[in-house]
Amino acid sequence: MDHFVYRGGILHAEDVALTDIAATVGTPFYCYSAATLTRHYHLFTEALSPLPNLVCFAIKSLSNVAVLKLLGDLGAGMDVVSGGEYRRAKAAGVPGNRIVFSGVGKTREEMRLALEGGIRQFNVESEPELRALSEVATSMGVVAPITIRVNPDVDAKTHEKIATGKKENKFGIPIGRAPAVYAEAARLPGLDVVGIDVHIGSQLTDLEPFEQAFLKVADLTRQLRSEGHNIRRLDLGGGLGIPYTRSNDAPPLPMDYGALIKRTVGDLGCEVEIEPGRLISGNSGILVSQVIYVKNGEGRDFLIVDSAMNDLVRPSMYGAHHDIVPVIEGPVGSPTQPFDVVGPVCETGDTFAKERDLPLLTEGDLIAFRSAGAYGAVMASEYNTRPLIPEVLVKGDHFAVIRARPSFDEIISRDTIPAWL
Ligand SMILES: *Cc1c(COP(=O)(O)O)cnc(C)c1O
Repeated sequence: MDHFVYRGGILHAEDVALTDIAATVGTPFYCYSAATLTRHYHLFTEALSPLPNLVCFAIKSLSNVAVLKLLGDLGAGMDVVSGGEYRRAKAAGVPGNRIVFSGVGKTREEMRLALEGGIRQFNVESEPELRALSEVATSMGVVAPITIRVNPDVDAKTHEKIATGKKENKFGIPIGRAPAVYAEAARLPGLDVVGIDVHIGSQLTDLEPFEQAFLKVADLTRQLRSEGHNIRRLDLGGGLGIPYTRSNDAPPLPMDYGALIKRTVGDLGCEVEIEPGRLISGNSGILVSQVIYVKNGEGRDFLIVDSAMNDLVRPSMYGAHHDIVPVIEGPVGSPTQPFDVVGPVCETGDTFAKERDLPLLTEGDLIAFRSAGAYGAVMASEYNTRPLIPEVLVKGDHFAVIRARPSFDEIISRDTIPAWL
């Protein structure tokens, strides 16, 4: 459920008409709903209750500091995968003891940053990383709390680019080698082994792979405890999928995911962390765009819009589907026709949808791409020297630009021409 609904024929974000935002901010822009973000966060805290838990929002899905502040103020933790994201979490006022640091390539500099600023735990992904962290922590005279990310070798049954839990993926250590790596971690100075971490992929639409992974983690917990490790925290990752269309099978609900967690690891007496990104942010955001031209081709009609693959790359990168709706709704029973919806970028890959049935839209009409809150703005680039588009946050009848559109001067002045040229 989200808070983007038609009122009086105009699509609103909560109590604000998107036509009003478009008139003020210009198009294209991302628009997020605070009520939807809040609701989705609470679905998880409710689903995990009464287990001791921390819901760590995966910043990489939507990293605007205003959004992080909103979630952080609700009590959310944050899952960061870079020093930059760590800085964003801190800029949003999230305390270090609610930040977990994931990622396969943490640098020593990033480790130092997090140890100085405070960190709940590092999710370590390899033995070389373990040794590096031990060295860094020791040199600083501190102890780094860690989990080790295990790769449970389960098939997440999702898009190959976002599956992370098969043994051929680059993530974590093979679960069979975990006892040896935990033994090494226990021997190394400057490390405090607090738990186990797992994350098997993104946009999972079936609970079964989670069940397999969590059962393996439960077994590993018992084994590691019997070998003397004080496993007291389980980080179960993110990855729960969202509905991208109104029609397809609905993915599992957070409540069912929570019940699965309780069933598989709930009796271990561990604190449970999860790292949802997409389920919190995905349907909390839309991308609003304007039709530039309607171009009649041979056998197909193109809707050329002012957003492009550089603004929302998911369709061209993952073949992803986004529902597209008009901001101003026609009367019931208005005719539709198939359009290819494309952006202005000079690549055929710059296609949002093929032969999509849409109302008879014309130049100047506004459309919205739904479910664009996750992996939308954060993956945007300035390809074709198209400025990063603004982000707008709505709460009730308030709206504010939370990232402004840069000017062309700002963009071009980042380049420098060497004196010797
Ligand atoms: C990407 C990622 C997440 C979030 O995944 P979603 O599918 O957005 O929930 C969580 N944890 C880790 C380690 C990740 O890489």
